[in-house]
Amino acid sequence: LAEDALSRLKSIADKKEITLSVHGEHIVVSGYRKVLDGMLYNLCDNAIKYNIAGGNVAVRIDYKDYKPVVTVSDTGIGIPAEHRPHIFERFYRIDKSRSKEIGGTGLGLSIVKHGAMLHEITIDMNSKENTGTTFKLTFPRNSEALKG
Ligand code: ATP
Ligand code: MG
Repeated sequence: LAEDALSRLKSIADKKEITLSVHGEHIVVSGYRKVLDGMLYNLCDNAIKYNIAGGNVAVRIDYKDYKPVVTVSDTGIGIPAEHRPHIFERFYRIDKSRSKEIGGTGLGLSIVKHGAMLHEITIDMNSKENTGTTFKLTFPRNSEALKG
């Protein structure tokens, strides 16, 4: 799913010479494919849109404490602390000045949040201005993990 979402964003990334990569394990989760795809797509879309030219976007897929964990990391502009409590709200966009040329309606992260609620996924976010942002999705413990 991650590779597929990134492949659909590749032409946008290429214009900014942003490198895209997927690392980690192939993990089976149960869920709504279209919803999970929409979550990955929106996180990766943001990671590209709010990145610098020549930056990187990395998706990592691993287990932590037998829970599938997906992180989407970018080397972009970051999210100022005062905006962090609001970014998952519908139509919320951070000031026009820094993103006036970047299109968007402010719905991407609300889609991510709703998908997370549906799948009982926990979202953590780490960001540093002018350095980058990482979104971490932690899935519920799954039976696949326990087989290994
Ligand atoms: P849409 O996703 O509907 O096209 P959008 O990207 O503006 O529009 P969201 O995806 O909900 O909306 O993101 C909300 C705001 O959070 C964005 O406007 C942007 O300012 C900020 N943001 C989201 N992801 C990142 C990121 N990876 N780095 C920096 N800022 C981000
Ligand atoms: Mg978005």
